[in-house]
Amino acid sequence: MSMQLDFLGKRVLVTGSTKGIGRGAAEGFHELGAMVAINGRTPESVAQAIDEMGGGERLIAAPGDLSRVSVIHDVVPKAIEALGGLDILVNNAGRGDERLIDDVDEAHWEAVLALNIKGAFFTIQASLPALKKTKGCVVNVASMLGVMGAPAGIIVYSTTKGAMVNMTRMMALELARDGVRVNNLCPGWIDTPMIEHDNELMGGDALYKYIDEECPLGRIGQVSETTGAILYLSSANAGYTTGSTLVTDGGISSGH
Ligand code: NAD
Repeated sequence: MSMQLDFLGKRVLVTGSTKGIGRGAAEGFHELGAMVAINGRTPESVAQAIDEMGGGERLIAAPGDLSRVSVIHDVVPKAIEALGGLDILVNNAGRGDERLIDDVDEAHWEAVLALNIKGAFFTIQASLPALKKTKGCVVNVASMLGVMGAPAGIIVYSTTKGAMVNMTRMMALELARDGVRVNNLCPGWIDTPMIEHDNELMGGDALYKYIDEECPLGRIGQVSETTGAILYLSSANAGYTTGSTLVTDGGISSGH
């Protein structure tokens, strides 16, 4: 059998793909022959990402803030039309906010849930007619914080990621007979602008040092290591895999 990853002619939407994990996945699909719709909050950030990726007709701009359902209902059908169908949806857009329980107010709760779980749900819902036609698949980018606890300070984010893990299982079962696979990727610490930002807030290199000490593999993960996992889950090699949770966390969720 061929274990080669080949996405020639596949049509892919990656949400939150102007930077970080989503950008890495978009570049991976694109390099392996797919047509990819790039999403970020603004037309400018999407245009810049497409430019940096070399442009061309296999890159489609799909800007819009996916924390709003009305925007999802506009962006997703337009992206699918421009792609000419949809084979793979990667639900990656997410925000990570740090708060202790006492500091969480309604606005914070609603903002984090709006993107991380409501946005993901309605993006899948809007993609389903196209995915059912192609017997396509969904990869939801949750987090190791969807399958384990962590030191205090990131309560609402973790709540959304736990919800995403179980939403994936429920969707996998509901959609299995339609031939649509739905899986989770649960990354641990991955070196992206999100982590750079958190490190700056902590000062010095405090976060990077903490990660090197805490992680069993002794280092932060690289975007290429989530790209490989997303491409695998989206490939024919994972054809018998649905409702699963693949962790790329350097061993953290195994207990440390
Ligand atoms: P990042 O902040 O580096 O990139 C986030 C991407 O999402 C950007 O392209 C941004 O434009 C986009 N985005 C943000 N808000 C959006 C919105 N409202 N609508 C549309 N797009 C929006 O983040 P990252 O580190 O690459 O994280 C990507 C995903 O992986 C997130 O869901 C995050 O929770 C998850 N994750 C990251 C890590 C990590 O260590 N980096 C670990 C576990 C899980």
